[in-house]
Amino acid sequence: MRVLVIAASAALMAAGAAEAKGPAPAKITSPPVPPPVDQALARDLLKELIEINSTHAHGSTVAAEAVAKRLREAGYAASDVQVLAPADHPTKGNTVVRLRGKGLGKPILFICHLDVVEAKPEDWTVDPFKLIEKDGFFYGRGTSDIKGDDAALIESLIRMKREGFVPDRDIIVAFTADEEAQGDANGVDWLLKSHRDLVDASIVFNPDSGGGGLLAGKRVSYGIQTSEKLYATFALDTVNRGGHSSLPRPDNAIYQLSHALDRVEAYRFPLHVTATNRGYLQGNAELESGQTRADMLAVAAATPDPIAADRLAKREDLNALLRTTCVATQLSGGHAENALPQHAQAIVQCRLIPGETVEETRQRLVAAIGDPEVKVSLTAPVKPSGETVPDPKVMARLEATIHGMWPGVIITPSMDAGASDSVHSRAVGIPSYGTSSIWGDLDDVRAHGRDERIRIPQFYEGVEFTYRLMKAMSARE
Ligand SMILES: [Zn+2]
Repeated sequence: MRVLVIAASAALMAAGAAEAKGPAPAKITSPPVPPPVDQALARDLLKELIEINSTHAHGSTVAAEAVAKRLREAGYAASDVQVLAPADHPTKGNTVVRLRGKGLGKPILFICHLDVVEAKPEDWTVDPFKLIEKDGFFYGRGTSDIKGDDAALIESLIRMKREGFVPDRDIIVAFTADEEAQGDANGVDWLLKSHRDLVDASIVFNPDSGGGGLLAGKRVSYGIQTSEKLYATFALDTVNRGGHSSLPRPDNAIYQLSHALDRVEAYRFPLHVTATNRGYLQGNAELESGQTRADMLAVAAATPDPIAADRLAKREDLNALLRTTCVATQLSGGHAENALPQHAQAIVQCRLIPGETVEETRQRLVAAIGDPEVKVSLTAPVKPSGETVPDPKVMARLEATIHGMWPGVIITPSMDAGASDSVHSRAVGIPSYGTSSIWGDLDDVRAHGRDERIRIPQFYEGVEFTYRLMKAMSARE
């Protein structure tokens, strides 16, 4: 998953970048890029990875082996570059590499998946499994999600080795399997469970989330992802003895369900402003003006102003930041046109604010519905994962690194609406930060879609950023 979510920018987009309120987003200047030799290597690595098909059906082992070969050739000891796959999923390989440091603290870990979403060549205007350079973009499946960042990480590892750089703390990078398909061989989950010693770290950086967004070619802001909403899907079921449609009765499974849905529609979950979203609202208020700006600051205050929150909640992107949401997504019921329904079912999907539990959410739905005959049950288990409460020391170091590349950009913590692999590292208690390196177009997101692409200058900036980030974050505390 690569989600460029900068929620407030949805409104900027709707308004059109030209009419965006508040101070104009920082113009693209000429940020630093790596030396030519490193640019050439990064491009070559990107090409190699794009041209290895690592969709769910093909698996990631071929890509993992290619990464390992590059790293060994660059001077990494064989014992520090391991290709590992679960015994029952040999095609779902992962590569774990370690740049040894001075032992001045617990290692830091970067995670980045190698698998990509399926791409049907007939849907694309170019071959999805060839790196194609066109109109200032690199095209190919995985360019933005997330082989561009894989290439940046490999290049930086090779560059640091060549330069003889010894970090204060070990830098571990795990190039992993099975993120996209939500399959049963997720590399991050598996490595944390089966090879914890190899990947154990004090902190995780995941370029598959967070990052900078461009609107009409201008930088809007950079989000450091510190939390994500969890999915929980519930089924609402009503049952009835049924009967002949010629003899209707007051009790009816479809009507009963429909009344329940009315109440779900009307119900609003409590306001819940997390540390991440407080920081997000504060930072993004700078992009707004007037009442919206004042409301964002009032909701970000130590005691959020509920009236201001109600005004903001009229915007669906902001409402999603402020509370858990649940919405009906599917409906079925009845078995014949001339029979009273014996069963009706609605699917209601919820996105939980980190820190709220699935059971608490279910109970709130039950209470809102207020009809004990409507059964509310979870359709699939949910892996709990909390928020990484932004650590001021970590944030300061990240901000310095980001501003070293892109001076003046607004930086905020951010919450994604979807799930990234950080869910697994947060679940085992490792603080995890989403720090994508390649700025993407907010008004033209192609990850998972056709003709996926990244801007070429932003790719090289991303490589330089990754190199600086690895060095900065591995420095002793
Ligand atoms: Zn991804």
